[in-house]
Amino acid sequence: MTQRLFFALWPDDALRRRLAGLAEDVGSRVTGRIVAADNLHITLVFLGALNSAHRQCAEEVAAAIRCEQFTLTLDRVGYWSTPRILWAGSMQIPEALQSLVDGLQTGLASCGIPLENRPYQPHLTLMRKVGRRPAAAAIDPISWSVERFCLVESVSGSNGVSYRVVASWRLG
Ligand code: ATP
Ligand code: MG
Repeated sequence: MTQRLFFALWPDDALRRRLAGLAEDVGSRVTGRIVAADNLHITLVFLGALNSAHRQCAEEVAAAIRCEQFTLTLDRVGYWSTPRILWAGSMQIPEALQSLVDGLQTGLASCGIPLENRPYQPHLTLMRKVGRRPAAAAIDPISWSVERFCLVESVSGSNGVSYRVVASWRLG
């Protein structure tokens, strides 16, 4: 038995509503599929299908992380043409965010969990299957006070994918 898992930053309800508003705003200007409000998140590390021993090791790695809380300011919208997604991101990646990801990756490698070796580009997917690059538009910055990170299970159902937070850890 395996579970499809990833570490993520998970917005609280108030922030989720703001982000959903941003997605609708941005989505009103292009064709594509807006990400369901409940699914909005930022992936830290994608794990893929893990057995229970690997999941336990990943949770031990998470529990051992020592990382300060930080503020992530979402102040830009970007477009990637290959996955055809529109995303919200930050001009300035907080050092603590990068060190959180580095710490997880290092620990996970020692669990023997294979990871992709691409540079980390934090982004919050707002829209998928976007037809074309939208005109550049400024957004009102959204400040996200990040106090915790989560282990999330990705479950695919008849209505597409949904996510379930299975564990979380406090920063600071
Ligand atoms: P679907 O694949 O059905 O379109 P999804 O991409 O939202 O849905 P998952 O594939 O389970 O769902 O991915 C969960 C999260 O991990 C998403 O944020 C996704 O962008 C990210 N992710 C998936 N695969 C990778 C990967 N190979 N490398 C980095 N991040 C990934
Ligand atoms: Mg996917």
